[in-house]
Amino acid sequence: PVYSAAENRYECGMQYRRAGRSGVMLPAISLGLWHNFGDVDTLSLSRKKLHYAFDHGITHFDLANNYGPSYGSAEETFGQIMKSSFAPYRDELFISTKAGHDMWPGPYGNWGSRKHLMASLDQSLKRMNLDYVDVFYSHRYDPETPLEETLQALVDIVRKGKALYVGLSKYPLDAYLFASRYLKERDVPCLLYQGRYSMLVREPESQGILNAVKENGSGFVAFSPLAQGLLTNRYLNGIPDNSRIARGGFLKKEALTPEVLSKIQALNERAAMRGQSLAEMALAWLLKNETVISVIVGASSVEQLGDSLKTLNHLSFEEEELHAIEKILM
Ligand code: NDP
Repeated sequence: PVYSAAENRYECGMQYRRAGRSGVMLPAISLGLWHNFGDVDTLSLSRKKLHYAFDHGITHFDLANNYGPSYGSAEETFGQIMKSSFAPYRDELFISTKAGHDMWPGPYGNWGSRKHLMASLDQSLKRMNLDYVDVFYSHRYDPETPLEETLQALVDIVRKGKALYVGLSKYPLDAYLFASRYLKERDVPCLLYQGRYSMLVREPESQGILNAVKENGSGFVAFSPLAQGLLTNRYLNGIPDNSRIARGGFLKKEALTPEVLSKIQALNERAAMRGQSLAEMALAWLLKNETVISVIVGASSVEQLGDSLKTLNHLSFEEEELHAIEKILM
């Protein structure tokens, strides 16, 4: 059956936040396709999750060249859904991709050269069945490539119409500040800074990234906001067979130390006092900061996505709650 988007998709309680000093708004909760959308995953489930997301006001989908596994396959999955379901809705979607991590063999398949960025984006557009992406990111800072080269490639990609905006991911503070200035001077401001941020990972605060991003007019988007599943009910009572830790990937079982487990359990009790799941509270905690314009969640099921979306029903915190949470996290 042909997909038809839910008519009430913009009345489900989704919040849209302005991306820094720009004209564009992103949903407070976005969906990332790093895991769970590759060719190792079931196409029908991927389709269900993408439909569910868009039907509930998630207009922003976050991808990268090598998401899968295998590399490229998350973009291919998205491209299939783009063609079969989302084509009539292209102008309601905000789609990102990135280049800069390992993608293809040889000297041009990685990092921040103009050669890599240009070729990678062309490949991504083909896989996704798109003429352009809404935002193209330099996926990581490359200490070996002159930063000007990477940045000029981003500028030229926009000039060619292959991306509407550009973003930077995981850049150290100094590199972000240099990049922000360079890009602004060429009238292609850095729309988004994408960084790892959660209750368990506080570097964007301690390293001054959040402040710098705000001052320079970019929007901050948080990736792995649930610490890859640690900040959910997944690991409260052991390691489930179908979990990211059990599947063996970037989240190692060593991450689930007794200290982390006891923090998670205490946070879970706090969440229950708020009438929320731990995942909901973890997302609300990030979104209380207006500089965080979107949290990019992953989801291995439609139910998880539904649970994460419930966050929007209760975003505020009492001072006393915040103190109690800080104490747990110390
Ligand atoms: P999360 O921290 O949201 O972790 C997602 C995992 O948490 C899911 O796969 C699932 O684990 C579990 N989960 C999610 N929601 C719930 C819920 N409501 N209840 C219980 N468990 C839940 O994010 P990711 O680490 O997946 O990253 C999100 C996105 O961020 C990526 O898809 C990507 O777009 C982006 N990203 C960007 C990076 C960069 O370098 N710029 C790096 C990493 C990610 P399980 O699978 O075990 O069920």
